[in-house]
Amino acid sequence: MIIDLTPLFSGEVKELPLDYKEAVSGEAYERYFDGLGIDISGEVEITGRIYDMSAYMQLEITAKLPYRSQCCRCLKETEGAVICKIERVLSANEADGEEDDVIVYTDRKIDPEETVLEELSMAVPSKPLCRPDCKGLCPVCGHDLNDGGCEHAAED
Ligand SMILES: [Zn+2]
Ligand SMILES: [Zn+2]
Repeated sequence: MIIDLTPLFSGEVKELPLDYKEAVSGEAYERYFDGLGIDISGEVEITGRIYDMSAYMQLEITAKLPYRSQCCRCLKETEGAVICKIERVLSANEADGEEDDVIVYTDRKIDPEETVLEELSMAVPSKPLCRPDCKGLCPVCGHDLNDGGCEHAAED
């Protein structure tokens, strides 16, 4: 979503609260999440604020992406959410775009989408689990050990 910073620049407000949802387009999925082993099951939820630090503007948000995946131990379908805290300095100076913690804006507008998707994609778990203590499958008979032991693996 494009955010207009004008109320901050004009001094009308000291802080712009952010609370919105944005769908991940097919193109964005391919660019950021393809091959990571997750299906996106809902919109990205963004909450936070942009505030005026006098010398610069600061963006402080939490982004949450619900996903569906397969537990790497028991192979059951599992649901989860990637959550990222993102802090960035907003700058009008193109040259600052090289810095990791800076978003460059033009015409007093920013769109944090790319930053948000990039951060979320880096936080996708490489080994998703249905629960932290999933016992997985018996390597011999494939029995789901979360449902109890089998003849190859004693119940604990
Ligand atoms: Zn599992
Ligand atoms: Zn077994």
